[in-house]
Amino acid sequence: MTNVTRDFFIGLSNSKFLNTQAKKWGFVLGADKFVAGTTIQSVVDAVKKLNAKGISCTLDNLGEFVSDKSEADQAKERILAIIENIHEQELDCHLSVKLTQLGLDIDQDYCIENMKEILGAAKGIFVNIDMEDYAHYEPTLDVLHALREHYDNVGTVIQSYLYRSEEDMSRLKDVRIRLVKGAYKESDDVAFPDKQDIDRNFVKLAKQRLLGNTFTSIATHDHHIIDELKEFVDENDIDTDKFEFQMLYGFRNDMQDKLAEEGYHFCTYIPFGDDWFGYFMRRLAERPQNMNLIMKDALYTEDNRLKKGPVIAGTAIAAATAFALWRRKK
Ligand SMILES: Cc1cc2nc3c(=O)[nH]c(=O)nc-3n(C[C@H](O)[C@H](O)[C@H](O)COP(=O)(O)OP(=O)(O)OC[C@H]3O[C@@H](n4cnc5c(N)ncnc54)[C@H](O)[C@@H]3O)c2cc1C
Repeated sequence: MTNVTRDFFIGLSNSKFLNTQAKKWGFVLGADKFVAGTTIQSVVDAVKKLNAKGISCTLDNLGEFVSDKSEADQAKERILAIIENIHEQELDCHLSVKLTQLGLDIDQDYCIENMKEILGAAKGIFVNIDMEDYAHYEPTLDVLHALREHYDNVGTVIQSYLYRSEEDMSRLKDVRIRLVKGAYKESDDVAFPDKQDIDRNFVKLAKQRLLGNTFTSIATHDHHIIDELKEFVDENDIDTDKFEFQMLYGFRNDMQDKLAEEGYHFCTYIPFGDDWFGYFMRRLAERPQNMNLIMKDALYTEDNRLKKGPVIAGTAIAAATAFALWRRKK
C-alpha cells in the first residue's frame, strides 16, 4: 500500500469528529466482521466459541484518547464488569487495555489508580497494556514500572518499528510482552520507515525472546514470519509453553484455527464496544485487501440492494476528508 493511502486511513482514525459520529451510526462499513459486538454478552459469546476450539482470548474494550474523567470512569467500570464475567464464567481469557482510555492524558496518577483497581480485581488474570502512539510511549512505560512494583500480572507491547525496541525489550526481559510491528504513523526520527526493516527487526526480537525465559505473545498475521519462527522453535527445541501466537478477531480465521490445531498456544485479540472507528481505520491502513474483504458485504444486502447506513457513513467520511484537505490547503 502506498504511504498516501496508509496516511489517509491513519488520518481518519485520528479524527475526533468521525470517531464520535461512528458511535451514533453503530456498526457500518463491515466493522462487525472485526469487532465482536457492543455488549459484554456479545463478547462473552465470542470468547466461548473460540475457547471451545482451544483458542484463548484477550479482550479490548474499544476506546482511546479520552479527555474526560467521567468517560475514563465508565471505561474502567466496563472493564471491571468484564473481569467479573471472566471469573464467573471461567473463560480462558485475559485483558488488553489502552491507558489513554483510562485517563493517561488527564492525569498519570489517576490513570495508575484506575489500573490498580483493575489489576486488583483481575487477581490471576493477566492484563496487557497495549502500546499506543509514540507520544504516549514513555508515559506508558512509566505507568507499567509503577504498577510492577505492586503487581506481576501486568505487561505491555514492544513495537518492532521503533529503533529503540531492542533496548527496551532487553530492559523488559522479565516482563510478559506482546511483540507487534506497530500500527501508528511515526516519524522516521523514531521508527524504521521501511517495512523490510520492521519485519527483519520483528523476527530478530522474536528469536531473542524465544531464547529467553519469559512468556511472549507473537502478534502477527504474517505467515512468512510465523513459518520462520515455527522452524526456529523446532531447531532450538524451544518449549511451546513459552509463547503463543496472537491475531486479531476476524482476520485469517483459518490460520488461527490451524495453529491451534497444530498444538501451538493461540490467542485471539477481540475488540468490542461502540468506539470502533479508530481501530477499524488502522486495520484498513495496514492492508488494502481488508477493504475488498468488507466492501461487498458492507454495501449490499443479501438481495443485492444498496444498504443505507454505509452510504451515509461513506458520504460523511468523504465530506470530512474533503473539508480537512480544503483547510490544509488554505
Ligand atoms: C493481537 C494483536 C495485537 C496488536 N496490538 C498492537 C498494539 O498494542 N500496538 C500497536 O501499535 N499495534 C498493535 N497491533 C498491530 C500491529 O502493530 C500491526 O500493525 C498489524 O498486526 C499488521 O502487521 P502484521 O504483522 O499482522 O501483517 P502485515 O505486515 O500487515 O502483513 C504482512 C504480510 O502478512 C500477510 N497478511 C497480513 N494480514 C493478512 C490478512 N488479513 N489476510 C491474508 N494475509 C495477510 C500478507 O502476506 C502480508 O503481506 C496488534 C496486532 C495484533 C495481531
